[in-house]
Amino acid sequence: MGELKTSRLSERNVVEGGLVERLYWLIKLRWIAFAGLFLTVFFVDKFVGISLKTYPLYAAAIFLGIYNLSFRVFLYFLEKKKSAAVPKINNFLTNFQISLDLIFLAILLHFSGGAENPFIFYFIFHMIIASILLSRRASFWQATFAIFLFLSIVIFEYRKILPHHCLKGFVGQSLHDNLLYVAGVSFVFITTLYIAVYMATSISRRLKKREKSLREANELLEANDRIKSEYVLRVTHDIKGHLSAIQGCIEPVTGGITGPLNEKQRDLLQRADMRTGKLMFFVKALLEVTRIKLSRQIKVEYFSFGEMVKEAVANIQSKARDKNLSVKLTIDPGVDKARGAREYIQETISNILANAVKYTPRNGRIDVNVGDKGNSIITRIEDTGIGIPKDELPKVFDEFYRASNAKGVETDGTGLGLSIAKQVIARHDGKIWVESEEGRGTTFFIVLPK
Ligand code: ADP
Repeated sequence: MGELKTSRLSERNVVEGGLVERLYWLIKLRWIAFAGLFLTVFFVDKFVGISLKTYPLYAAAIFLGIYNLSFRVFLYFLEKKKSAAVPKINNFLTNFQISLDLIFLAILLHFSGGAENPFIFYFIFHMIIASILLSRRASFWQATFAIFLFLSIVIFEYRKILPHHCLKGFVGQSLHDNLLYVAGVSFVFITTLYIAVYMATSISRRLKKREKSLREANELLEANDRIKSEYVLRVTHDIKGHLSAIQGCIEPVTGGITGPLNEKQRDLLQRADMRTGKLMFFVKALLEVTRIKLSRQIKVEYFSFGEMVKEAVANIQSKARDKNLSVKLTIDPGVDKARGAREYIQETISNILANAVKYTPRNGRIDVNVGDKGNSIITRIEDTGIGIPKDELPKVFDEFYRASNAKGVETDGTGLGLSIAKQVIARHDGKIWVESEEGRGTTFFIVLPK
């Protein structure tokens, strides 16, 4: 047995997951750079006729590939650990990776013409990435580090401390010892980098602020929703108590325990009993949907998914027979055990099956199919019933919503069954959706992770 936590907790994981995601994003970008570098060096060397130090550049590309792969592996293990320190480590890692990327780009530039190479402006991409992922202060530090690397190459090549690899064929003459050129490029480079960081961090800050206020608004909505649900739970609970008491009073009277009744009295009491029964059904459904919403955890266990669906189908057979509906069930042999709250899942499937029976006219068909999708199980419940009007499809999972065509066919209905189903499936990190054509039929799909 285990427990499934509420969506609020899983949201926190998503936020922490966001930090990991940005590192994956960096890794993805680096693979693009890796491929781009190989192709550019190959193309320039073979077809453009610019003299390049190809071996150091290919070696650099291989180094880039290796270090990117190492980060990928490291991240995999870091994620597995899921410790509280992960966000902190991620922040350090982001800074570290961007600095390494800057060093890498500086080495590449040194072997391909230094300040002569127009690719020097690729440093701007790193500045934009830093501005998105890091704080403003850290981004300015990264810009300063990039400038330091650039100036080191330029000054060392100018002072002949480092050899210069001229881009013959691209520039007419070597420019690394032309003071005016070197000073001019350096000035433009420095100002461009700082301006880029200033602008990108301003935009990124604004977006982060907006994201924060949206998150806060969402938290407030959730808190208000909780207060509303707690209120509904209390009121419904009270109503249920009174209803049970009323049922307890009516039953002995209609059963004749309190003495004989005339026709009129019996009729009125039976109608009162029927209405109380319907109200009780509604109140129980409302209590259930509210309880699921409020419960922080639900108990889960391993169970046979196929057996559970078979039971649910067996339970509706007699009602289906009454309407002469054919019910067909097919279960993929690959479907075996699943982990979840068995009773809740069975109730969800039973609700959808009950709807299929309710909203399918006599002599119709209901097909239930359970398929194996590797890590998940897909259940499809298809009927040849009245269907749902297209514009009402998105609303059928809302609380109390009943489609306009359903009310004429079936007066009894709470509009809560699908809302309970949605809650249950969401709790299992699954997906539920519906496809329908009015007058032709409806198909519900449920995907649940095993
Ligand atoms: P209800 O108690 O009204 O059946 P549900 O929440 O179970 O409440 O369903 C919400 C609405 O979705 C129904 O009122 C009906 O309009 C529509 N619906 C659900 N299942 C079907 C179906 N199989 N065929 C047609 N309409 C359906």
